Amino acid sequence: MQEFEIPKTMKAMTLAAYDHLELATVPVPEPGPGEVLCRIKSVAICGSDPKMIHGGYRFANWPPYYPFIMGHEWAGQVVAVGEGVRDFVPGDRVAGEAHVGCGKCENCKRGHYTVCLNYGKDGHDGGLDLGHRHYGFYWQGANAEYNVYKTSGLHKIPDNVSYDVASMCDCAGVAFHGVELAGVTPGGTCVVFGPGAIGLCAMMECKALGSGRVIMVGRGAKLEKARELGADVCIDFEKEDPVRKVLELTGGVGADEVMECSGAKDSPMKACQLVKKTGAVAIIATYHDSEVMIPANTVNFNEIRLVGSKANPNVSAQVLHFFSTGAIQGEKLITHRFPLEEYEKAVDIFEHKKEGSIKVVIHP
Ligand SMILES: [Zn+2]
Ligand SMILES: [Zn+2]
Repeated sequence: MQEFEIPKTMKAMTLAAYDHLELATVPVPEPGPGEVLCRIKSVAICGSDPKMIHGGYRFANWPPYYPFIMGHEWAGQVVAVGEGVRDFVPGDRVAGEAHVGCGKCENCKRGHYTVCLNYGKDGHDGGLDLGHRHYGFYWQGANAEYNVYKTSGLHKIPDNVSYDVASMCDCAGVAFHGVELAGVTPGGTCVVFGPGAIGLCAMMECKALGSGRVIMVGRGAKLEKARELGADVCIDFEKEDPVRKVLELTGGVGADEVMECSGAKDSPMKACQLVKKTGAVAIIATYHDSEVMIPANTVNFNEIRLVGSKANPNVSAQVLHFFSTGAIQGEKLITHRFPLEEYEKAVDIFEHKKEGSIKVVIHP
């Protein structure tokens, strides 16, 4: 077992108020029972991060207090273990999930821990702790040199997968949960809307599960990236109508499954219009618009299976395996890397899609 020297304080990038990031020196947290302390090696910036910085999640009470340490897509090394921890030892390379369920409610008991019924009832202040964690959203996250985690949210990283790639375990898992819920018809046709990091992962996962043809709908450099990563057909929605094109490509029948990863207001409508009768549409994206149209009659008449997909329960081992085999080409999704000190610049490049950015990784 390796021994690690652990300092008393650490660097952390904190959100001090909306739109106000501050590099701070804070105490290194100590692992409680069932928890481990991790040295954070890589944190991937997620689409939700700039939104939280700008105050876009006030309705969800994220962050719940200031100053708050964000960051939820991460990988690192276990450096100390708390009481009763037997499944991890110092030195283990691990990737983390943002959600850990309370383990006691009906949903958690059935494995649906990202929709825990005790979500958000407890707080960081120790007043009430029902056991649920949502690291980086309402519990201290990974934008720091260290953080403590419950071991139930951790997964060992295969030797041939780097920390940078493993930090996308959460992101690739969000895609894979939706892909699993929709199901993939071997030899069939899948359509993916939105070639961002989640959509690109979904595309590679559909192929890994045996889809015969994956059609990506998007535009610009990201659509080109989809082509490079193996999309069989790319539809530029600025140049042609995806509904007409997909129906044309499938002899008027429609796609077997659609993975909606774009978050564009009109994509769920189009997804229902181009999926075949009895096909499945997974809503993996989230939307800035509070009201998004779903064609209820089409869903009804065509018996479309429309599934919501929240986060990434029970899929981390699979996606780490896909990174390891190359089924998900993780390295090709990472376009930028920055030290923690340059977090603000990194977020700007990521948020405003500068320099062809797809996934931006921070090294605390
Ligand atoms: Zn995320
Ligand atoms: Zn629960």
